[in-house]
Amino acid sequence: MGLWVVSKRKFNVVKLKFLLENAVSTRIVNSALEKEPNGKTKLENALDSYGENSNLSFIERTKLIPITKVLDIIRRGFNREEKAFKQDLEDPTIRKVILNSFRSLQKYGLELPQTFAMPMMVVWNYTNDCNLRCKHCYQNAGDIGSKRNELTTEEKFKVIDDIASNDIPTIFFSGGEPVIRKDFWDIARYAKEKGLYLSIASNGTLFTKENAKKAKDIGFGYIALSLDASTPEKHDEFRGVPGMWNRSVQGIRNCIEAGITTCIQYTFSRDNADELPKMFELREKLGAYKVIVYNYIPVGRGGFENDPTPEQREEACKVMYDELEAGHQVVASTAPQLGRYCKQHDADSVIISHYAEAKSKELGIIAEIVGGCGAGRAYCAIQPDGKVTPCVYMPDLVVGDLRKQSFKEIWEESPVMISLRDRSDLQGRCATCEYKALCGGCRARAYAYFGDLKGADPGCIFNREYYYEFMRANHRKHKTLEREVVKQQVV
Ligand code: SF4
Ligand code: SF4
Repeated sequence: MGLWVVSKRKFNVVKLKFLLENAVSTRIVNSALEKEPNGKTKLENALDSYGENSNLSFIERTKLIPITKVLDIIRRGFNREEKAFKQDLEDPTIRKVILNSFRSLQKYGLELPQTFAMPMMVVWNYTNDCNLRCKHCYQNAGDIGSKRNELTTEEKFKVIDDIASNDIPTIFFSGGEPVIRKDFWDIARYAKEKGLYLSIASNGTLFTKENAKKAKDIGFGYIALSLDASTPEKHDEFRGVPGMWNRSVQGIRNCIEAGITTCIQYTFSRDNADELPKMFELREKLGAYKVIVYNYIPVGRGGFENDPTPEQREEACKVMYDELEAGHQVVASTAPQLGRYCKQHDADSVIISHYAEAKSKELGIIAEIVGGCGAGRAYCAIQPDGKVTPCVYMPDLVVGDLRKQSFKEIWEESPVMISLRDRSDLQGRCATCEYKALCGGCRARAYAYFGDLKGADPGCIFNREYYYEFMRANHRKHKTLEREVVKQQVV
């Protein structure tokens, strides 16, 4: 989950399809993935030779020219100077991204959205243990010391081996609170040695100066620490333990001071919806890199009553859009509708799925390739006991078990994962929506509300009738919701 910023160079889907799907390109992609006598693919050799760190002979390098030309197209697309690009290619994470992209093209051709041969990112819910008791925890975490059949340290090393051997580029540690586990730093260091890009979601309370330094030394790409409000009262009420806002803010300060890219992660819910603009102010005051706005989903301890209405979510999209349009590249969001909102309003910036923004609308094609909801298609989650789920917000939808199966087998063969890659049978307005490639609706929300992975995403303004119908049917007795429903009917 890198925070990608891409250049202003024009991409156009027809041109891109022409470039990537003609007979010559197909031959180049196929040939690039053939193994050479030195045990590497031609693509890997081309990456080595492009970086001028190769032991290949002149003749061998000449054979790699067609692949090198493709790399040149990528370089120009991202507006990188040749020297800088050579350095980029020495980064194992970038090499994994390129290898995964070639394999995806070979397997599926160019798609909108793209199905990836392997996920571009895995979120590992490292433990169920946590020192806080947040109201909205999707993982229902807590119970320090309970372990609940979690992977042993030895098994965790094997998980890293499995992930790294499949050229998955990025791993995002989440929880529970990952830092609580004694083996966390050893596992993270090992993952880094294996060439993975690392990031972590933490409640921030354990990010002492010492831990911030450890993260810096290991080489974490970025750290996202939670704050649910700009002031202590509301945050501590959410988090269930007094004094935690101050500790999390101190954690943010420690990470910034240690020189790590530090984000504030904020879960936008009904109770703290008014805090969103204030979070941008707080980001500025603290000197954090971005505010990552998490899209509240009613799973785990998060109840339906605290889910923002579609109108509130649309308003939040507007606030984030305005921030981006003002030129403040300080926001990323897990609400796939933000991509739709930006495109609908012809924004100058384009949101690339959950992760980043591009500073040019001409790069909308990248957003459509990455494609909004990535569950089971571009990303998946690993649970503390080694079970695999399509998304962290589907903690009970187990599609495989790393104690018994390889990651590759689960990714390639799970019927649920395969089904999630197909958007042709979505329901509600998502079925016919012109922004389907860019967004696709949050499948976890559809599943939480309707038990249907292909259901309408009731968090989207386009699907508001599904939201209110659900609320009427299921929460008649809940006064707050009833009032909300009545208000919406009056409007
Ligand atoms: S289901 Fe999709 S949109 Fe929803 S949180 Fe997961 S990846 Fe994001
Ligand atoms: S209708 Fe569905 S696909 Fe379209 S913007 Fe809304 S959630 Fe996304």
